Amino acid sequence: LSHEFRRAIEEIKLRAPIEDVVREHVPSLKKAGAVWKACCPFHDEKTPSFVVDPRRGTWHCFGACAEGGDQIAFVERFSGLGFLDALEVLAARTGVDVPRGRGRGGERREADDPGYALLEGAARFYAERLAAPEGRAAREYLTGRGLSEATLADFGLGWAPAGGRELCGWARQGAAAGPAGGPGSSLDLLERCGLARRNESGHGYDFFRGRLVIPIRDERGRTVGFGARRLGEGDGPKYINTPETPYFKKGRLVYGFDKALAEARKARHLILVEGYTDVMAAHQVGLRRVGAVLGTSTGTDHAGLLRRCGARRIHLVFDGDEAGTLAARRALAGLLPLEVELSVVRLPIGEDPCDLLLREGAEAFLARIEAAPDWFEVLCGELEGRRGAELSQGVDELLELLQHVPRPVHRRSLVQELADRLGVGIETLREQWRSGARGRRRPAPATPPATAPEPSPDGEAPGEPEARVLQAFRGLVGAVLLDPSLVPLVRPLADECQDVGLSRILEVVLGMYEDLDAVIDPSSVLTVLGDHPARKQVAGLAEHAGRAASPKELLDGCLESLRRHHEGRRVDELKARFLVLEQRIREATDEVAQSAARSELERVANELTEVLRCGRTPEEEPSPTDGLPVHRVSPTART
Ligand SMILES: [Zn+2]
Repeated sequence: LSHEFRRAIEEIKLRAPIEDVVREHVPSLKKAGAVWKACCPFHDEKTPSFVVDPRRGTWHCFGACAEGGDQIAFVERFSGLGFLDALEVLAARTGVDVPRGRGRGGERREADDPGYALLEGAARFYAERLAAPEGRAAREYLTGRGLSEATLADFGLGWAPAGGRELCGWARQGAAAGPAGGPGSSLDLLERCGLARRNESGHGYDFFRGRLVIPIRDERGRTVGFGARRLGEGDGPKYINTPETPYFKKGRLVYGFDKALAEARKARHLILVEGYTDVMAAHQVGLRRVGAVLGTSTGTDHAGLLRRCGARRIHLVFDGDEAGTLAARRALAGLLPLEVELSVVRLPIGEDPCDLLLREGAEAFLARIEAAPDWFEVLCGELEGRRGAELSQGVDELLELLQHVPRPVHRRSLVQELADRLGVGIETLREQWRSGARGRRRPAPATPPATAPEPSPDGEAPGEPEARVLQAFRGLVGAVLLDPSLVPLVRPLADECQDVGLSRILEVVLGMYEDLDAVIDPSSVLTVLGDHPARKQVAGLAEHAGRAASPKELLDGCLESLRRHHEGRRVDELKARFLVLEQRIREATDEVAQSAARSELERVANELTEVLRCGRTPEEEPSPTDGLPVHRVSPTART
């Protein structure tokens, strides 16, 4: 991050203290000694495990979330935003000007982007036309579906006039045209927003003509594009969307997500339906954790967006027909990597969620979907009664989906269950997968699900020392976050840290230590980390370290643990060398080689004895911190 950018973040943090930012969204936040506590806004709980520490400038959930961070991270999590968007929210709130270029990536600043204003203006333009006489047929269609005026206004529905020049005409007028005038946008901008096209002679015409238009908003509620429905018989497909533009990226949009976020977060539950009207109907009956994935595929960007709402369970509601089955399958492929509980609800053919919701209400609809079985159950159920080639194809499709289950044990257990249900051995499924590999369009993955190596219980053992080392480095980083004067003790070990996130944090702390003006605390370290993924760990590391008797004591324990680890490794090396040399001595054919091996064996034996003796009496060991400054420099004294 650039220096100016960092300065701006520091300024924002000064003007909006962490406890204020959190309290705004979590009114139950209460002071408890030096910290503030509340029940965690991100998971359900009865006793508060959500702590805000103004001294460190961080929040942290000790409960199910085990997550934390600074003001920016809180807004990100609470409002389901990305780093830069959250930063912008805080910048607007505090009146701090975040410099252009944003330090990295050089993204445009949205506040300066006239595209958003044009899209918003276009939505208003269309909404006014819906209310005008020309929008009557569209209004009748919508009210005929049972949608109320309030819902239409809430979702900003509109009508695109049929003439083909109206929107362009309006948008290109400037303020000179009076209050009814448009933003004075250029045709280039209209095109860039997907609102206009150019004909052969270079004149612009409206992209949407004679259609009901539905504004599509991003997770922040900004209009980024439109869906448009043809009424009655006419030209073109029933539904069209804004083409992909810098604002409208289907792969990243969930219709209604901005309105669904708050409830989805609270209930940790999200319902995905297929259509715009399904979403509107759900909100109309008071069921707000409902959205619709745009486009035909649910990709990793969708998954990333959905992950942000913190839902633990997702219900996919689809029509019972062929198209619905296909859509459900595609959505599953995209959502399985999320590792949330996924259920697929198939409605009886002829029923759609919009009608059901408006007829039965939220409660009955919820009861219906809660009764739905887990996705795997549903797909296995579909295989029943199939035989021969039809069964084989169904199994292929299911195996392909299982590829998207990220965890091997989970995947393996599902493959086993499928084998049991089919009454075949797991080997048969592996064979099926392998034999189908050539026919698959995509190259077969390196580890197909059915043959994925199973982690054996003993396979965990070699990982154990590594886990201890990681634990030690976590403690070590936590200690320097709370007491930067410990940095010199940690520096010699920094290169050894294998964990990418911890390494990055350590690197930042070491870098800041070189800067005499820098105040090192969790909040300032977070500022420097910017949107590096490691920032998720900082508050937790600091909280953990805060529970030790003192950062120094924690550090000593960690250094000792690392020392033992090294020692253990050295002992293993020496033992192995010892055995090799023993054999060499036995098998040596000439005197010179034998005596060389003998003298090395002696050295190895001596070192081994030494190391083992020292290991038994750690109190006699020279401290690993000897020779390093013991007197702590207080951070204030350095500045
Ligand atoms: Zn929590």
